[in-house]
Amino acid sequence: MLKNAYQTRHAGSLSRNYTVYAHQPGDKNLFSNACTVGAMSRPVAGVRGKSLILTLPGSPKGAKENLQAVLKLLPHACLQAACGDSRAMHAGGVKKLEQDAGVSAVDESSSQAHPPHHRDHDHHHDHGHKIPKAHTKPGDRPPRSNNPMLGPSQRYRSSPYPMLSVSDAVSMILEHAPSPIPTSLPLSPALVGYVIASDIHAVEAVPAYRASIVDGYAVMVAAKGSHGPNGTKGTFLVASVSHAQASSMPPPLAEGTIARITTGAPLPPNANAVVMVEDTTIVSTTANGSEEATVEILTDAIQPGENIRDPGSDIKLNSLIFPKGTSITSLGGEIGLLAAAGIHTVPVFTKPRIGVLSTGDEVTDISQQQHDRPLSGGQIRDSNRPSLSSILQGWNLCSAVIDLGIARDTPPGSLETALRSAFRDHDLDIVVTTGGVSMGELDLLKPTVERSMGGTVHFGRVSMKPGKPTTFASVPVKGTVDGERKERLIFGLPGNPASAIVTANLFVLPALQRMAGMGEGKKRLGLERVMVKLEGEVKCDKARVEYHRVLVRCGREGVLLATSTGMQRSSRVGSLASANALLVLPQREAVLEKGEMCEALMMGLIPGFE
Ligand code: AMP
Ligand code: MG
Repeated sequence: MLKNAYQTRHAGSLSRNYTVYAHQPGDKNLFSNACTVGAMSRPVAGVRGKSLILTLPGSPKGAKENLQAVLKLLPHACLQAACGDSRAMHAGGVKKLEQDAGVSAVDESSSQAHPPHHRDHDHHHDHGHKIPKAHTKPGDRPPRSNNPMLGPSQRYRSSPYPMLSVSDAVSMILEHAPSPIPTSLPLSPALVGYVIASDIHAVEAVPAYRASIVDGYAVMVAAKGSHGPNGTKGTFLVASVSHAQASSMPPPLAEGTIARITTGAPLPPNANAVVMVEDTTIVSTTANGSEEATVEILTDAIQPGENIRDPGSDIKLNSLIFPKGTSITSLGGEIGLLAAAGIHTVPVFTKPRIGVLSTGDEVTDISQQQHDRPLSGGQIRDSNRPSLSSILQGWNLCSAVIDLGIARDTPPGSLETALRSAFRDHDLDIVVTTGGVSMGELDLLKPTVERSMGGTVHFGRVSMKPGKPTTFASVPVKGTVDGERKERLIFGLPGNPASAIVTANLFVLPALQRMAGMGEGKKRLGLERVMVKLEGEVKCDKARVEYHRVLVRCGREGVLLATSTGMQRSSRVGSLASANALLVLPQREAVLEKGEMCEALMMGLIPGFE
């Protein structure tokens, strides 16, 4: 049986966590289960008879790093494998063993140490709600398996997955998210959300000709201070008309004549200013009275160049209009500038394709047909699929958001079938699932990825509230076009609706941003960060960073004010219903008082003051 888990943090190994499982000798039947504990490219250990078997990754670098991470623990593991008196060996506790072996203590920030108040389930109650609490420590509990076929009596009763900090989890996601792929797409409003893949220069000057800024009369003005024939005050013959139209350029002005001109129209070649219509009055009209024949200009103050846009003065020919990495927003500025500068094929990065899958026997589709039937027994409405789909669509970072329906927990294999066909049939880069990642016997995501799909669970727990069982994995999938096996990503978000939305914002967003080409250089990915002033007190969690849902609005003095959306239990999707931000409450036994400043992550727009 699995006897002890030593979790160490290896300083030089890019925040990777390593687990060495030492086994009771002779325990052969559980060996294969022990082999599946590896998350990421970490060493996997098992015992067969009296032999300790350690499997390292194939790459020399990975093998070296991994071996270094476990080397100091090997003497102890070997002793135990060779029938050492396990009780006596563990008498001093894990800390002592780690000290004796010379491995550093567990990094508290990644929450690998399980404090006495450690909880195993993603149940969160706050604001007067009792929080579920385990009364035993992981080390005190007998070991188990992740093989769902063995039934509930054999399953893990505490998670074997190391707990990562949120920032380590995001780093790991960014490490595994594929690099963005450049392509070219025709300019259209459908480009909203795409990221520009290479520097774009103007292929046309704007304006392309000298254009009038106002409606009025094009004139020839002498340099400042001159009067007489080149001054503008006086009565002039209106010799021609220049409209903003494509067909022709106006003729040059003859001496002493002016030309009527409309906003945006080209100037006659020798005109050098435009007098606005307000500074003029009609002296005589044409015979039929419909147009002006002569016009008096009432001012002599017109300067050369006045009311004229010179060629290229808005956009210079060949000037850089967008550097690589610019996002095309729906606000219109980027699309407008591309169109104006003569760009009709735009270099952008492809957007990833994503699918959303709910899991659970109790989860009921929200289709009309199902809705007409009242819920029975333990049934619940599937709120995660529509909420996550709407979030993903709102981000505009995916070229497709596919509704993958609901995978049932029973019969066995349903989840695997759903995941495989999702990747195969829809050529998805990412599948987001909800549910099935906590500690129940029907929590099948991790075993399905590891045991059935040959995938890797990169992390299976994160020190956060809500969202502790958030799981991130990759699976090898045969490409539909080239038939090559490619790694595809799975985000196993918790089933509780508030947890699912919070974790989508924290983990799925940066992955999509990276894959869509954002985050070049130093740009931080994820939700935008702001500082907000609390409008009421909020309690922090002493064990985990908490993402407390709030409405942030702009106060009259320019300070952002945050109001809690109330009870924060992770099942309460209503905590997000009017929220536009997540307060980042530090892991601390403390209450933040009204008026204190706190970091917040913006999910939506900030309303202005009334
Ligand atoms: P699980 O991790 O599958 O045990 O799910 C945790 C909790 O989330 C349970 O109360 C589930 O019923 C609930 N849940 C799971 N999936 C959904 C869903 N798609 N919509 C709403 N609630 C869900
Ligand atoms: Mg479930």
